[in-house]
Amino acid sequence: MDRKKKRPVLCGLTPGELRDVLEPLPAFRSRQVFSWIARGAPSFSAMTDLPLPLREEFESRFFLYSGTVSGRLEDPDGTVKLRISFPDGASVESVLLSDGEGRKTACLSTQAGCPAGCVFCKTGSRGFFRNLEASEITEQFLRLRFLGADISHIVIMGMGEPLLNLGELRKALDILMAPEGLGISKRRVTLSTCGIVPGIRDLADRGPPIRLALSLTTADEALRERLMPVGKTNPLPQVKKALLYYQEKQGRRITLEAVLLGGINTRRQDADALADFARGLDVMVNLIPWNAAEVPEFEGRPLKEPGIREIEEFSAALEKRGLKVTRRLRKGRNIAGACGQLAGE
Ligand code: SAH
Ligand code: SF4
Repeated sequence: MDRKKKRPVLCGLTPGELRDVLEPLPAFRSRQVFSWIARGAPSFSAMTDLPLPLREEFESRFFLYSGTVSGRLEDPDGTVKLRISFPDGASVESVLLSDGEGRKTACLSTQAGCPAGCVFCKTGSRGFFRNLEASEITEQFLRLRFLGADISHIVIMGMGEPLLNLGELRKALDILMAPEGLGISKRRVTLSTCGIVPGIRDLADRGPPIRLALSLTTADEALRERLMPVGKTNPLPQVKKALLYYQEKQGRRITLEAVLLGGINTRRQDADALADFARGLDVMVNLIPWNAAEVPEFEGRPLKEPGIREIEEFSAALEKRGLKVTRRLRKGRNIAGACGQLAGE
């Protein structure tokens, strides 16, 4: 992009790229700058161990970040949602989640909007604007960190389908996981995908070796295609093959996520199909009761949240088939910051 060529955005550069951009400055300078960025310096002028003339030069040649925080909401449950807007009008939402034990997790977006169009997801129902650049992904993390939180975990579960923007995401993760920077551990990063087959294979081949979650929703292929249009071009048998390949290469347990839509995918046959799909894979199942989101009706009827008994029964049916089942905590629902409620509006 021209904007970037004219003025590099430094928070999107890996240590090696930063060295190149800052040439002919010595390597220790670029290390200093990288570590300032990783620690969340708000501006070049805050980089107090750099000579003043250098900071001034940086100010005129580079951007540290490219976005601005254009909205901030806090849920009484501790969840914070930021909206970050970029100069071309793209905006995304990023969420900071805290669990009972004080663990902080950043939920990051990879696209402004999403082309996948899952019917139950607000992001998907709003269409697609564009892929985010690496700098725009790291910026989300750094801005959540400005809130004062010591963030140990990352989930790539915000707006967009990460495997449709894997190149830029990889770069962003390189920066966030760099030992000379934030050093986020690869075991503490989870990517959730709607099941893009070539993307899963690419991740298996080239990493990074993070945790993988598949948004299965249902293993009833026909129903899945109606709920998740990407299923038409990424049929479940191929998705499963890709997961087996991933597991062979990366040897990691995969999470199967199922958003539970009241009266739709919680039938006995859905539990059975899910258990059949899981056979041969090392998985655990994460049930996500649907969070009410402003989405169009599904085939003439509004979607609804599942009832408590419905969730219990579905969960029990899966456990009976030998699956390990967890249930996602519902966080950030008061600020439309929960799964499937992000739209960047
Ligand atoms: N695009 C990726 C990651 C973002 S969505 C993916 O689809 O996996 C993250 C998770 O939120 C997915 O598992 C998705 O199924 C779920 N989700 C989407 N809309 C939801 C809603 N309204 N309520 C609960 N979960 C939802
Ligand atoms: Fe995109 Fe994920 Fe929403 Fe589907 S659930 S539309 S893949 S963000």
